[in-house]
Amino acid sequence: MADRQTVKRIADFIEPLRVKPGSRVHLAKDFDPGFKGGMKKREGVELLHTGVKLLAEYQARLAAQDTHGVLMCLQALDAGGKDGTIRHVMSGVNPQGVHVSGFKVPSAEELDHDYLWRYAQRLPARGDIAIFNRSHYEEVLVVRVHPELLDRQKLPPEARGPDLWHHRYRAINDWERHLTENGFRLVKVFLNLSKEEQRRRFLKRIDLPEKNWKFSAADIREREYWDDYQKAFSDMLSATSTPWAPWYVVPADHKWFARICASALLVHTLLDIDPQYPEVDKKTRKALRAAKHDLEAEAPEGAARDPYAAKHRKGRG
Ligand code: AMP
Ligand code: MG
Repeated sequence: MADRQTVKRIADFIEPLRVKPGSRVHLAKDFDPGFKGGMKKREGVELLHTGVKLLAEYQARLAAQDTHGVLMCLQALDAGGKDGTIRHVMSGVNPQGVHVSGFKVPSAEELDHDYLWRYAQRLPARGDIAIFNRSHYEEVLVVRVHPELLDRQKLPPEARGPDLWHHRYRAINDWERHLTENGFRLVKVFLNLSKEEQRRRFLKRIDLPEKNWKFSAADIREREYWDDYQKAFSDMLSATSTPWAPWYVVPADHKWFARICASALLVHTLLDIDPQYPEVDKKTRKALRAAKHDLEAEAPEGAARDPYAAKHRKGRG
């Protein structure tokens, strides 16, 4: 269990990252990609370790309680660190309870449905954690920056009016509200990278042969739309940070710091759900005692009647 001090430390840590619902975000002005909260990397590693341990414990509780699910949405510009964040945050959890879904250019079948359809199919089940590597937010980000992508979505004329983006924000907020009201909690993380740090990471991908596969000419083309993306992200954060599913802007120029933030956000949500192992009722407890009695009676000559209890010095349970 997390002690009170840890719970407070995590809550205080994530507070400055939250986009206040109803506020008007101007990314470049409001959030510094190089922020690291006065923390040294060494302290950070220790905190990440605590986070990973808590995550493992609370994931097991979440699965056992089986009433709530958690969806983490990761958004970032190219080289923002989504893959590495997922790898680090999820180290140490049980893979059975976690599902990672990446979203790329939509397929023909996906384009034949409403734009939320493909995301709905990847939602977590109760007891599970799902991670979206890119998410339904691409529908108001890449599609907004490149409106020609809308043409491929085969919308009827009445769905393409001047209020299209406003309607999408509203639909997304309503959808997320519906999910939270039904026990599914969202953790929305924007990894906020600076243009200079993106340049450095691209160069590293070009310079190191084992990183070449991560780089494509399209990444350079997208970089030319930097300002358009900053505006699309700012609008999206302003319109869709809600009391039930707020956005968190995570400074991403220092990878280690971004990973701590992502881990802290997920842990914070799990602590807030506070899932418990179900307790068995009187009748089941009686059946357990009877089964224990039978199993003990089967102990071979010379073996402890209950090796587990003997080892842990426990009496009859
Ligand atoms: P990556 O995540 O780097 O493998 O790239 C996936 C690509 O798919 C990115 O260039 C995204 O912009 C693109 N993408 C993701 N979602 C959508 C979408 N809904 N419509 C169009 N392109 C998308
Ligand atoms: Mg890419």
